[in-house]
Amino acid sequence: MLPGILLDRDGVINVNRPDHVKVWEEFEFLPGVLEALRALSQLDLPIAVVTNQSIIGRGLATQAAVDEINARMIERVSEAGGRLDGVFYCPHSPEVHCTCRKPQPGLLLEAARALGLDLSRSCLIGDAMSDVQAALAVGCQAVLVASGRGAAQHALVEEAGISSYYLARDLQDAVAWVYDRFRPEQN
Ligand SMILES: [Zn+2]
Repeated sequence: MLPGILLDRDGVINVNRPDHVKVWEEFEFLPGVLEALRALSQLDLPIAVVTNQSIIGRGLATQAAVDEINARMIERVSEAGGRLDGVFYCPHSPEVHCTCRKPQPGLLLEAARALGLDLSRSCLIGDAMSDVQAALAVGCQAVLVASGRGAAQHALVEEAGISSYYLARDLQDAVAWVYDRFRPEQN
């Protein structure tokens, strides 16, 4: 079992649109993200995306559209010299109360099963309190980036009294933290 790096998608990898990313044309990489993912890929650890995509359950996008967006994202990352080893998403609307919508840890467990990850030695980089909560629920280290909904979410996390996470400016900053933390411990 390996440590792995889990990433939220919207607000971490791409611009978080208030009207959601429903088609590939609405997907816009945040500045510096492709370079950050290339650097992260050199660590030789599994990298997976874990993302809530309730737009499917709400009827705003089809599963096929979300799959296409994810496939194209993987392709672009790969063209830029990086890699994403898996994308796991929750398609449910919040009303369903599923076990995979973050802050529930179901997606993290699914990624761990698929990629053979030891979550207690892994980390999740996200832009929302629900990411931090999902990570801590399974003993994963949490990194909150301020690039998406970060500032407002940071306030929520503080109000909730959660302090065991690292606050990063953006994915580049988070990757630098991951390097410090994971490179010496690799294998
Ligand atoms: Zn779900």
